[in-house]
Amino acid sequence: MKKVVVNGANGKMGKRVVDLILNKENTELVGVCDKKGIDKKIKSTNLKIKNNLSQILDKKEIDVVIDFTTPASVMDNIRIVLNNNINMIVGTTGITKDNLDEIKNIVDNTKIIIAPNFALGAVLMMKFSKKAAKYMDDVEIIELHHDQKIDSPSGTSIRTAELISENLEKSKNTKQNYIESLTGARGAQKEDINIHSVRLKGLVAHQEVIFGTEGQTLKIKHDSYDRSSFMPGVSMAIDKINEIKGLVYGLENILD
Ligand code: NAP
Repeated sequence: MKKVVVNGANGKMGKRVVDLILNKENTELVGVCDKKGIDKKIKSTNLKIKNNLSQILDKKEIDVVIDFTTPASVMDNIRIVLNNNINMIVGTTGITKDNLDEIKNIVDNTKIIIAPNFALGAVLMMKFSKKAAKYMDDVEIIELHHDQKIDSPSGTSIRTAELISENLEKSKNTKQNYIESLTGARGAQKEDINIHSVRLKGLVAHQEVIFGTEGQTLKIKHDSYDRSSFMPGVSMAIDKINEIKGLVYGLENILD
């Protein structure tokens, strides 16, 4: 039986993860933490939401902490959990290359899976995009999310740009120095790849990767219409966490 704590348990993703744990075989929800909804009881359990992660970790025997909080707090959460020698699964976005370097230094004998996107379809979109980059001249990314998403561009778009850049031959990029008559018109850049962020009510999480080469384009698109799309990936991470070594970044690295 894996004993699990959910951090960010009152959030949109955290609530789904709580339901997943309550319904998943061989897992037990032993703690819930959030900055909001303090003392709210979790249905069918005796657990109440607490707002101090360190105190929860002190008191219980815990196998894994799952974090869906905010980019501003995620690194502090990771430091707390790893310093307590507890394994961790992180879905919160906003983790930078410097953050990953720090995590590699503090991970020691614990294990941590960080995935900017737990939707299996999105992971495939990233894999296919990396592959397509070998054969195409240039690419831009459009990511679209609900209007409550705090950070932009999305962690998925940044990860996609990183993966594409491993295969994209930069010399093929024929873009000129454009003039932006409105700042931001060409989007933001990661690894010289333009990323455009859309935030709108009604959306969940969507991304289109558009490749261009002489006389043709290729579009690779993924849509999460519901947050349930992320749960099989989270479930897989729970199942595989004991098998990994140290830090794994990206769900693609634990797919069979
Ligand atoms: P959300 O609804 O705002 O939930 C986040 C919750 O965490 C809020 O209740 C927030 O409280 C709480 N929180 C903030 N700081 C905390 C801390 N230090 N300790 C404990 N709880 C804390 O956001 P969401 O839509 O669930 O998304 C959460 C994160 O997951 C975001 O970074 C999002 O981009 C990411 N995400 C990842 C995936 C993936 O597949 N990897 C999928 C969807 C979303 P306050 O409101 O008071 O700050």
